Amino acid sequence: MYCVMMITFLSGGTGTPKLIRGARRLMNDAEIAVVVNTAEDMWFGGGHLSPDIDTILYLFAGLLDTSRWWGIEGDTFATHEFLRRIGEDEFIAVGDRDRAVLLARAAMLSRGRTLTEATHALCRSLGVDARVLPMCDTGVTTMIRSGTTCMHFQEYWVRHRGSVPIDAVIRECAAAPVATGEVIRAIGESDAVVVGPSNPVTSISPILECEGIREALSDRFVVAVSPFIGDAPVSGPAAALMAAWNRPSTARGTYDLYRDFTDVFVQDIRDGDPIPGAVQLDTLMTDEEKSIGLAEAILAVVEEHR
Ligand code: GDP
Repeated sequence: MYCVMMITFLSGGTGTPKLIRGARRLMNDAEIAVVVNTAEDMWFGGGHLSPDIDTILYLFAGLLDTSRWWGIEGDTFATHEFLRRIGEDEFIAVGDRDRAVLLARAAMLSRGRTLTEATHALCRSLGVDARVLPMCDTGVTTMIRSGTTCMHFQEYWVRHRGSVPIDAVIRECAAAPVATGEVIRAIGESDAVVVGPSNPVTSISPILECEGIREALSDRFVVAVSPFIGDAPVSGPAAALMAAWNRPSTARGTYDLYRDFTDVFVQDIRDGDPIPGAVQLDTLMTDEEKSIGLAEAILAVVEEHR
């Protein structure tokens, strides 16, 4: 265990949660805050799907299915299957218990609670001590334009399995997103902020686009981790999304997006294109021990700068 240290992670729903899994073995959950991307959220099957928030909630609650990095381990799919049988367009397989969380969140939002309040309530009921903080309390949606069709990111990635070409990535929002007071406070109270190895286009950039975030980061010690090893992501559609932004799917492409506010950039030891000043570590978290190893190395970098 490290001596009391407060760390805020910026996270999507796969790469950074793997790193947080390791950090939890070295710190108390109460010393961890996670600012979570909400640009993949959607109303779905009568519930409110917030996939990255739920992955983080389930991780801290000890419920997460860590073979897929989404959903609840051992969940059943009776409702999903029956909805399909009666003709509903259930293109995402939401488990029964997972769906209960979507419905509870939808009910809270319908009663006028903010997403931050609803997430806080879910943290309490699931026994989560970490601060799990939606990036903002207004709707932001990542849309993918492919030819003449514009679709929600979930349609692109889940329904079409990322098989259609991307012509543009569009962030749709009714009002310019503003980071919540809770987010700004968490960053301000942290010894360091860790931008985890999440998708730069669909997970981290939506957080960076919230008003107030970049200013808050510029006052903190920031460590950012590349989600790419060599010229490929460890998983998911990040390469096609970076290409749509005319950026290479490499650590260097990621660094260029984060360099303004990053103090220490972490790239993988296998990368053959070392970035001056970057730290090279084994970032491939194939199991919990490897997550602990990477978290330990990052916390050591933070300790050094305290
Ligand atoms: P999403 O919300 O499910 O898209 O998840 P994230 O954005 O949090 O994470 C997706 C990114 O995590 C991908 O770009 C992967 O390359 C990256 N990733 C997944 N596992 C690892 C890992 O073990 N090491 C590193 N460095 N990146 C990873």
